[in-house]
Amino acid sequence: MQEKHHLFKGDIFHFTKSPLEYKDSYEFIPNGALVIADGKVLETGVYASLKSKYASIRETDYSGQLLMPGLIDAHVHYAQTEMLGMYGKQLLDWLNDYTFPAELQFNAADHATRIARSFIEELLRNGTTSCVAYPTVHTNSVNALFQVASEYNMRLITGKILMDRNAPEGLTDNVETGEKACRELIEKWHGSGRNSYAITPRFALTSTPEQLRMAGRLHALYPDTYIQTHLSENRNEIASTLALYPGCSDYLEVYERAGLITDRTLLGHGVHLSDSELKRIAAAKAIIAHCPTSNLFLGSGLFEMKRANNMGIQTVLATDVGAGTSFSMLKTMAESYKIQQTTGYSMSVLETLYKSTLGTAKALNMADKTGSFLPGTEADFIVVNSATTPTQQLRRDYLVRSGKWTIENQLFGLQTLGDDRNISATYLMGKKVW
Ligand SMILES: [Zn+2]
Repeated sequence: MQEKHHLFKGDIFHFTKSPLEYKDSYEFIPNGALVIADGKVLETGVYASLKSKYASIRETDYSGQLLMPGLIDAHVHYAQTEMLGMYGKQLLDWLNDYTFPAELQFNAADHATRIARSFIEELLRNGTTSCVAYPTVHTNSVNALFQVASEYNMRLITGKILMDRNAPEGLTDNVETGEKACRELIEKWHGSGRNSYAITPRFALTSTPEQLRMAGRLHALYPDTYIQTHLSENRNEIASTLALYPGCSDYLEVYERAGLITDRTLLGHGVHLSDSELKRIAAAKAIIAHCPTSNLFLGSGLFEMKRANNMGIQTVLATDVGAGTSFSMLKTMAESYKIQQTTGYSMSVLETLYKSTLGTAKALNMADKTGSFLPGTEADFIVVNSATTPTQQLRRDYLVRSGKWTIENQLFGLQTLGDDRNISATYLMGKKVW
């Protein structure tokens, strides 16, 4: 039994509660230890006492580095891994010029598998241990991503994109073929290993009302699946949507009518929402995935986090690659902070990090599995060196000299100046994968 145990020495940081609700929201243990057994967290504590308690077990020394739960990316398009940083215009042009042509390639299984592997390796290199991903309309793209994630034993939520209009031939299905493919994929992957299925109508513009209703029915049939889609990212998109759905008084109502707004629904963006829409999202306990680098890159708008918080919305952070410009959740946190600065809200690093770890796990109803180091959770964690570059080292030395090298200053520096270079190692279920 002892062979399955493993002690990791380092500075422990993880959330136990929401920093928006509690002052003592996290546990920070300098010179601490994380003890795991069979891929799950057994306990955290001071190194010296855990070392004497578990005297003979395997030990890995990460002294001086942070041991933190892995980061969770709540909205990312794996099929756009090749097309980050494409110049030009706003959402709808960008979709037609770059995204749809890139996604057409995923009918080929070997292409899908190759990109799925690159995608997951990029996530792990950036310290992201779980994600909620969009593939393409092709069944091959879904199978490839679930397959590669399973090889790494990575927790993954994804599901076939549904599009039955306003997209090129080769990227559309219809109500019947879409439903049949979803059912087969749900039966094959949902709940198998660490995989969960998300019913994924891309957005209102590319689905008919009939297809959206089919997606809602499918979720009712498989109520423990997730739903993901895009909502109110860009003003032209909203105007086009309301023109296509003249009976709806706002964008959210399009999805409400189809039964798609539930406590397992992840809504990408939600940049331009009315008070009424925000209230209804909060009442349904649906989740908004805020994608700051994407919103800035496509000029979509500035999400108001404080307003969403005041309305009681569960908000989580996400990259939205490939409109998002980085796989790094640290960079994503940094940009979310800057967006809030323009709205007069100085968001704490505790809030941004919570919304990239335990807060996301809670919103997704999986806090018993991931997002923290609470005993019994799966040991998905990262080893973080918060001073790898000369600038970061100077900043650390300055703060140490001034007696201000607090955990919050350390985390804020990681957020503002950090990236993949700060991730020393990534573990899934206690196994080193990067
Ligand atoms: Zn997106």
